[in-house]
Amino acid sequence: MGGWGSGPQSSKPDTSQAKRVDIRYMRKHGLLLPGSMGSLRWTRGGEPNGYIWYTMGLDATSLTLDYKVRQHGEDWQSMSYTVSLESIPCRYGGKRQYFRCPNFYCSRRCEVLYSYGVYFVCQQCCGYLYPSQKGDRLNKLLEAKRKIGARIFEDWNGSDGWRKTKGMHWRTFEREYRRLQIREEAWSKTFCERAKALRVEY
Ligand SMILES: [Zn+2]
Repeated sequence: MGGWGSGPQSSKPDTSQAKRVDIRYMRKHGLLLPGSMGSLRWTRGGEPNGYIWYTMGLDATSLTLDYKVRQHGEDWQSMSYTVSLESIPCRYGGKRQYFRCPNFYCSRRCEVLYSYGVYFVCQQCCGYLYPSQKGDRLNKLLEAKRKIGARIFEDWNGSDGWRKTKGMHWRTFEREYRRLQIREEAWSKTFCERAKALRVEY
């Protein structure tokens, strides 16, 4: 998975390190509890490679990110903003929290926020902001993902969905959902490899 998953708790290799905030990792490690606070740290080649601070709202509907960031050796900037969280019923019962993209014009529901410039934004926003060409690998992967998503979800929002298309067999849905996830991971890996060249430090 990369990202936060390769913190000290994990022995996974971190060669494709992404600067990203993954709500699945936070959920798994119990970091989404009301009022919870601490740091989220990246590593690269086993060495520390930046961190940010997080604070969960007392009603667990928001997450505040605080960090210092600099691009291309420019001056450090202090950043602080709140990411809304949305709790929705998950596919197999229970409820699950998602981020709302902090880009005001987007606000899409998502599970991963990627470092882009000095902010963390959703995959779709990276797609708009990153100057990749049409026919480029990133766009192709995103397009393939969109096609599958729009077919298998009733409420596909461009990057995620949670209601299975009516009349679709669960077996078909599961298979297609796995295909979607494979493209998601491939996109993330490619994007992060490119993003490294932007040399954003935390
Ligand atoms: Zn977005």
